[in-house]
Amino acid sequence: MASKLSIMVIGGGITGLSSAYYLQKRLKAEGVEAQLTLVEKGTSFGGKINTLERDGFVIERGPDSFLSRKRPIIDLSLELGLGPELTGTNPQAKKTYILRQGKLHRMPPGLVLGIPTEMTPFMRTGLISPLGKVRAAMDMLLPKGANTADESLGHFLERRLGKEVLERIAEPLLAGIYAGDTYALSVRATFPQFREMERKKRSLILGMMANRKATQAEAADLPPIARNSVFLTYRKGLQTLVKALLLALQEVDMRTGESVVSIERKNDQVEVLFDNGRRELVDGVILTSPAYQVPALLSRFPAANELSKIRYVSVANVIMAFDRKDIPFPLDASGFVVPRSEGRTITACTWTSAKWLHTAPEGKVLLRCYVGRSGEEAWMGWDDETLLSKVRGDISELLGIHAEPLFHEITRMPNSMPQYPVGHLELVAEFRKKLDEEIPGLFVTGSGFHGVGLPDCIRQGNEAAQHMFKYVQE
Ligand code: FAD
Repeated sequence: MASKLSIMVIGGGITGLSSAYYLQKRLKAEGVEAQLTLVEKGTSFGGKINTLERDGFVIERGPDSFLSRKRPIIDLSLELGLGPELTGTNPQAKKTYILRQGKLHRMPPGLVLGIPTEMTPFMRTGLISPLGKVRAAMDMLLPKGANTADESLGHFLERRLGKEVLERIAEPLLAGIYAGDTYALSVRATFPQFREMERKKRSLILGMMANRKATQAEAADLPPIARNSVFLTYRKGLQTLVKALLLALQEVDMRTGESVVSIERKNDQVEVLFDNGRRELVDGVILTSPAYQVPALLSRFPAANELSKIRYVSVANVIMAFDRKDIPFPLDASGFVVPRSEGRTITACTWTSAKWLHTAPEGKVLLRCYVGRSGEEAWMGWDDETLLSKVRGDISELLGIHAEPLFHEITRMPNSMPQYPVGHLELVAEFRKKLDEEIPGLFVTGSGFHGVGLPDCIRQGNEAAQHMFKYVQE
């Protein structure tokens, strides 16, 4: 190996930025000198994170918040001095609605990830028929599944709670996270805790109830803000985290506008080829681009083709600002989700300025409508005008909002939501094993692998950094 180590991180999204951050930290802590480089093909850093400030509004065009009980992002925020920037959801807008036959129904209190943990409100909801409720309650009596192999999320939830709860409640809530088809998503890769609860408690509902208590106990050492709100963000948006990471990475060679087109092993180093024809030899590479792009980047490593089984769904969101007087209902909830069976263009609508008080000036309202999920990608062929008019048609019929928005922002994110297929964990493990044998200095990670949420991406970035540190020290 060269006298001064050289390590390159490819991709300037949250996974790449976290990888570089934790690698720099570890190298410094151990007194190891290395040239660290981060290359990003776009013009700025942050990847999917994309905050826009406009006319006093704080607008998130990508992710808008994160789960407060997930430690990696809390720890990183505190380490970067962002504790005072954290902000939780508005306690006056805790409700969520679910659309059913064109009407908004309040989601029964006590639902956690779409699973009932309080039976009285669940038994009272108008969302589920009496028979559907009896079927869901049977979860507490049914034996646990005999099969230990992976299965789809949809199959698992139908097996435990019945088809009605799956289709009317769980699917629109859970699949919202992946924009996925529950029957195509791996339960072990998306919600491993569900299978664990079944294994330990036999019943998903009973397991969820016990887990709720355990989670409350675990939360005891979180900062108060993280204990009081399920979701958090920063007062000036998620860009705050990106900016703080960039500040911490000043000694790293940060390069934008550089697209990597090929990576291969050269003697005991890794060779990176850029789209302008330049080649660079480094001791280690952490690659964080989407999984579907990896086969083309590693064209000399056929085992990477397996990653094309991880499909990506395209989504868009349409953000609209209004005057408060043009909204004919109380903004007393965080918004609503839309089951597939409703046949709407929008899959969910967040009442952003009600959920997050810092996002709109006094007297103004910000709404964010989500479009696209697995099997619902026709919108890709529509121009902006058509997309906007379909979305406005939905909110006019469902919410009675007929006013022209003060402004709108459309964000299209083609191939942005990874769909972990049944058998995903084994697929990734097998890919990494072979990669380690053939290109040992290369580690591939990011949202296409072990978790899509921002905290999971930060955790994966940290894991990649520790893996790389160990490799270059061997
Ligand atoms: P990315 O952000 O995609 O970053 C990868 C980077 O690599 C990109 O900047 C890309 O340009 C660069 N790159 C790729 N290939 C190359 C190459 N060959 N050469 C150089 N650079 C390259 N999560 C939450 O926790 N909360 C939310 O509210 C939330 N909402 C979401 C809403 C939407 C609409 C979407 C799409 C996702 C949401 N997520 C949310 C998920 C989360 O935002 C993503 O999983 C996460 O940001 C992905 O980070 P990443 O760094 O792995 O990938």
